[in-house]
Amino acid sequence: MAYSVRKLTDFSAPSLDAASSELASALSQASAGIQSEAEFKIFRDYWMGRKGGVLTHLNDLWLKASPGPNKRDVGQRVNELKKKVEQAVESTLARIQTGESAGKLAAESLDITLPGIRRPIGAEHPVIKTMNEIVRVFRNLGYSIEEGPEIETDFYNFESLNFPPNHPARDTQDTIFIAGQDSKPQRDRLLLRTHTSPVQIRTMQKMKPPVRVVCPGKVHRNDAADATHSPVFHQVEGLAVDTNITFCDLKGTVDHAMKALFGSSVKTRFYPSFFPFTEPSADVQISCIFCDGKGVRDGGPCRNCKASGWIELLGCGMVDPNVYGFVDYDAAKISGFAFGMGVERIAILKYGVDDIQLFYHGDVRFLEQFS
Ligand SMILES: [Zn+2]
Repeated sequence: MAYSVRKLTDFSAPSLDAASSELASALSQASAGIQSEAEFKIFRDYWMGRKGGVLTHLNDLWLKASPGPNKRDVGQRVNELKKKVEQAVESTLARIQTGESAGKLAAESLDITLPGIRRPIGAEHPVIKTMNEIVRVFRNLGYSIEEGPEIETDFYNFESLNFPPNHPARDTQDTIFIAGQDSKPQRDRLLLRTHTSPVQIRTMQKMKPPVRVVCPGKVHRNDAADATHSPVFHQVEGLAVDTNITFCDLKGTVDHAMKALFGSSVKTRFYPSFFPFTEPSADVQISCIFCDGKGVRDGGPCRNCKASGWIELLGCGMVDPNVYGFVDYDAAKISGFAFGMGVERIAILKYGVDDIQLFYHGDVRFLEQFS
């Protein structure tokens, strides 16, 4: 801060001009040299300080000392210089503050060689994984995939599948009905689908034979949750309709699918059952994968098959000709089969899980075993 206000004896315009520009250049030089907040404070006080600041000296040495005729001119110049000093102080402060934040940023600069935040990679849920595996087996056989709504009408869930109103088979499925539907005709009343079979009807309504589809999806029953039951679970349903499809095709297809899912040594057996929408109907058992169908394991009876050597796994049958009536297919010309299986049931067997609830608890320690 080499500058100090000169005492003036000559108050003529050229002399004032020279003195003013001397001050202005000293000001901008001083301002440019300020690098820190501490320096700025000294700078500010030097130029604007009430006691001994440059502006105070200007007042005393120029304005007060000027003779009467020059006062007006000197006053104007002093005011201009005041403004200049104030602006210089303001802009110096602003420069230091942005400079300091830029400096801070530079100090905190990103090290791109540091490892990033690792987000654990999710894995397919065992139920979805199993569902995809089942679907893949049938896709390899040329089946396509169809999906349908989880909220269904009574017509699609029951009536068109040959469950007439008041049919006793409706009682076997504890259906969750949607409230407030009483004013509608029964066939239009909404419910949560109890099986994926309505998708078969929807598919046949929009597609003419030949039809080969698998329908994976979520279904709902009014069951209390326990180790083997869940009010929400998953099914994969299959349907093949064409000319000359026989029960042999059904047996061969199901047998192939079970071998693909559980290994080529697995045997299947069919025995009569009942479903309203298939005739004849069959339940399918596979030879127990835990005891190789022997019924004994580790010197005792096999728990998994209750020593029978067989595990019941799915339902199937030849599509009841009545069903074709609902979808405008000519039952005299075509035939077909349908099958359905519970995804959780298959996942439980494949992975040796002993409680179906484990699939729904979302416990990462359980789920990550399947990744
Ligand atoms: Zn067994």
